[in-house]
Amino acid sequence: MGMEERTHFRVDQNKRIGCGNCVNVCTGMVLSMRDGHPEMKPFERFGWRGCWRCDRCIAV
Ligand code: SF4
Repeated sequence: MGMEERTHFRVDQNKRIGCGNCVNVCTGMVLSMRDGHPEMKPFERFGWRGCWRCDRCIAV
């Protein structure tokens, strides 16, 4: 199962503005920009070295 399915991480293409704020605030440092589009890198488990489910990316 891919990261997008496991985390439900989706980017609404009609709302994103390519600011990179989600990448900058990501607690787990699992987000990065590629061609102006945020993507999530693969990780083994939630928490250390993965997504903390903190929702900061959503907040910004
Ligand atoms: S929920 Fe937190 S740790 Fe997970 S991708 Fe968003 S900002 Fe990063």
